[in-house]
Amino acid sequence: MKNTKPMKLILMGIQGCGKSTQGNLLSKELHLPYLSSGHILREMAKEKTPLGRYIKETINSGILVSDKKMAVIMEEYLKRPEYANGWILDGFPRTVEQARDFPHIVDHVLYLHVSDKEALWRLSYRNDVVREDETLKAIRVRIELFHKVTEPVLTFYERKKKLLRIDGEQEIKKVNQSILKHLSK
Ligand code: AMP
Repeated sequence: MKNTKPMKLILMGIQGCGKSTQGNLLSKELHLPYLSSGHILREMAKEKTPLGRYIKETINSGILVSDKKMAVIMEEYLKRPEYANGWILDGFPRTVEQARDFPHIVDHVLYLHVSDKEALWRLSYRNDVVREDETLKAIRVRIELFHKVTEPVLTFYERKKKLLRIDGEQEIKKVNQSILKHLSK
């Protein structure tokens, strides 16, 4: 499927639901750039500055970077020319405040649903990337925060009729096909 219009997509779901796998697949298929807020923050955490240290501490404990800082960081990226013709965002917005203050009109929000049990199982057996912020404690905090703070964002987009719920427990190819089918409707 060749992307002909500047589509703006958001991927949501608990850690381990397959957002980055699906985001990268969709990026190739739809010719849209993929941008992960977690990836941006992990790069910023390497900087030996007060902001870099704050981000490192925050992401390693699994809690969230402040809404104000996130809005500035994301805008810094999205105003770049490569994002002018649409994008696939992974990990942002993650709070209702971030969604409410986001200045872009989103076309679809793809919610990859997997159970907490399945996500924890996948993360414990994931050995492709070893990440400093992937301790079991931080993963549990992230899952808890998803239910408490990020689930209301799903409701926010559901009310706007933008939410597409996908069964993320299917195999990778099937999840991808379900997304493409929903998007072509
Ligand atoms: P992720 O790779 O999406 O799991 O993000 C890793 C970590 O980055 C999260 O646990 C948060 O500490 C931080 N983070 C990523 N996106 C956001 C966001 N939209 N708002 C606040 N913190 C974020």
